[in-house]
Amino acid sequence: MLKIEGLTAEIDGKQILKGINLEVPTGEIHAIMGPNGSGKSTLSYVLSGREGYEITGGSATFNGVDILAMEPEERAAAGLFLAFQYPVELPGVGNANFLRTALNSIRKAKGEPEVDAMAFLKLARAKLKTLQMSDDMLKRNVNVGFSGGEKKRNEVLQMALLEPSLAILDETDSGLDIDALKIVSEGVNAMRGPNFSALVITHYQRLLDYITPDRVHVLMGGRIVKSGGPELALELEAEGYAKVAA
Ligand code: ADP
Ligand code: MG
Ligand code: MG
Repeated sequence: MLKIEGLTAEIDGKQILKGINLEVPTGEIHAIMGPNGSGKSTLSYVLSGREGYEITGGSATFNGVDILAMEPEERAAAGLFLAFQYPVELPGVGNANFLRTALNSIRKAKGEPEVDAMAFLKLARAKLKTLQMSDDMLKRNVNVGFSGGEKKRNEVLQMALLEPSLAILDETDSGLDIDALKIVSEGVNAMRGPNFSALVITHYQRLLDYITPDRVHVLMGGRIVKSGGPELALELEAEGYAKVAA
């Protein structure tokens, strides 16, 4: 499970996370909701090991292992998958090669044999089929000219291929249309199982119309101020953050 205790972090000398406590047991999907600027993205960046964030206190472990001490690649090898608000575009890098390289670096770290181009295509096509996606996107450059929905599809494909044990998904606060929400939701729902857990970070309750979380946590001012069941998301939608957190 993911266990975060008393986590504090700052950027450019400004404290953003002010003592996060959170447990996501294996097999569960949890949502983090909160108003803009509450520290949601900061939490996902800190967990992913992005540069520029200083961890000033507390801990984050995954199955008992300190993830904050790991390099980002080590986190991926340990079964973490982190998807971000703004997917990077890589001109000149073929998507199939990119995805295969990501898969092979994880397999290598686990001591498993690498997958060759032919075997990868077979695997990727099978995943695309279960996700009801076209295999066109394998031939294109990574995210270049992809629509918002295609970027989301690519992210979901990547998650399905890498088969993480914990996915942390930071969903954009704006511009994510209903179709894109459905793509992400179906991707996460397809992964649900006893060995998979997810932390879905979102500004909007809408996403939770498609993914039913086991728990909902409200992040405000760098702290989790309230936790509850799926009904908490509905309450937030109806009453707003200020009232629910009061
Ligand atoms: P959310 O994802 O919940 O909208 P963020 O984690 O993006 O919130 O931001 C949390 C707070 O951190 C905001 O007040 C934001 O202005 C501040 N912040 C983000 N990046 C920086 C930075 N580089 N320097 C100073 N403050 C920052
Ligand atoms: Mg924001
Ligand atoms: Mg954010």
